[in-house]
Amino acid sequence: SQAEYDVAIIGAGAAGMMAAIEAGRRGRSVLLIDHADTPGEKIRISGGGRCNFTNTRTTHANFISQNPHFCKSALTRYTPTDFIKWVNAKNIAWHEKTLGQLFCDGPSIQIINMLTEHCEHANVETCLSTSVERVEKTDDRFRLLTSEGPVVTSSLVIATGGKSIPKMGATDFAYRIADQFGLNIVTTRPALVPFTFGTELLEQTKPLSGISADAEIRCNGTSFREALLFTHRGISGPSILQISSYWREGDEIEINLTPDINLYEDLKAGRQKNGKLAPHTVMATHLPKRLAEWVTKRAHVPEKFGDLSDKHLKALAGGAQQWRVKPVGSEGYRTAEVTLGGIDTNDLSSKTMEAKSVSGLYFIGEAVDVTGWLGGYNFQWAWSSGWAAGQVI
Ligand code: FAD
Repeated sequence: SQAEYDVAIIGAGAAGMMAAIEAGRRGRSVLLIDHADTPGEKIRISGGGRCNFTNTRTTHANFISQNPHFCKSALTRYTPTDFIKWVNAKNIAWHEKTLGQLFCDGPSIQIINMLTEHCEHANVETCLSTSVERVEKTDDRFRLLTSEGPVVTSSLVIATGGKSIPKMGATDFAYRIADQFGLNIVTTRPALVPFTFGTELLEQTKPLSGISADAEIRCNGTSFREALLFTHRGISGPSILQISSYWREGDEIEINLTPDINLYEDLKAGRQKNGKLAPHTVMATHLPKRLAEWVTKRAHVPEKFGDLSDKHLKALAGGAQQWRVKPVGSEGYRTAEVTLGGIDTNDLSSKTMEAKSVSGLYFIGEAVDVTGWLGGYNFQWAWSSGWAAGQVI
């Protein structure tokens, strides 16, 4: 005997649950499969346990993809406002943290509960602790061999996410299925991931541990203005995670610790007036004290600010505004928040997420070559792409 469904969705994460809800509401019979014993594990741990569930400023410009236009259709049809309506309807309290980032006031589990309740109301059948051993296509149907027995379905949705955090059950399942059906895969790599640094930088920055600065970070023509944190493991924080998605092995990153001013001009203008002060005291008007002392020490300048030449001022300003750092590597998929690359968007319909060459096969969420910045964009892509598929499967 084999179970038959209109729709089978593999992966009960953010994207998979959204697609299941929408298809179920349309009256389709839906089977939602996950190898984990609970749905939405990444939602639970997201946003430091408070789930940064969307970003009110979402546009296609907040995503990395070989085709930057691909995500537009889904993002404009199911928007942050649409998701906020769901959250409000369940009385889940939330707040805007910064830069349009919306977080739950309480634990992330509220978002998972909201989605599982919607699944139940939409008569979605959820099958947890279930693995899929084989997928075959026969004429217009898919046959799955699962650990719970065979399943036959007209539409098959792959929502198994990316490779990040294998400890939590991430697998390369989506890429294997894409490969099996002849879809192209854009090379994957860890993104939104902490860098690792050599001992030299770790020694250099040791005295700065605990300091936070509002910095601008550049790499490969992209820059982010967000918090930079000095820790015992070098530099980290949102700005570093953001730039990691654009960094490649061997690249330097450039850090501006005083992004609001032209520091050189500013120092030069104050040279007379502040002539008797120590240079680090002048620098401390622009930077946290310990950081000001550190930058000044590295510039090797005279002890009285009035004695500094233009060249000295340039060295001082440059040390704060063009500080170049070369990461050794990244922590990899072990701690990466997301996976860059994935199923080539050229092989998918941007309207429905269906594979162009395999009717009935869909890829949604992080598995697709659409990767958001830090700040709730990745969930918004999961909701929007899941919703788009949910309208047609
Ligand atoms: P997932 O949510 O990863 O779901 C995939 C599902 O498929 C999982 O349930 C998994 O068990 C299942 N699965 C995998 N392989 C198989 C298989 N072979 N067989 C059966 N089932 C399988 N994004 C934000 O927007 N805001 C945040 O605050 C945020 N915080 C994050 C914090 C951390 C620590 C991490 C790691 C990520 C965070 N993200 C955040 C990113 C976000 O979690 C993902 O982009 C999002 O979950 C992707 O949704 P998805 O449905 O595509 O995949």
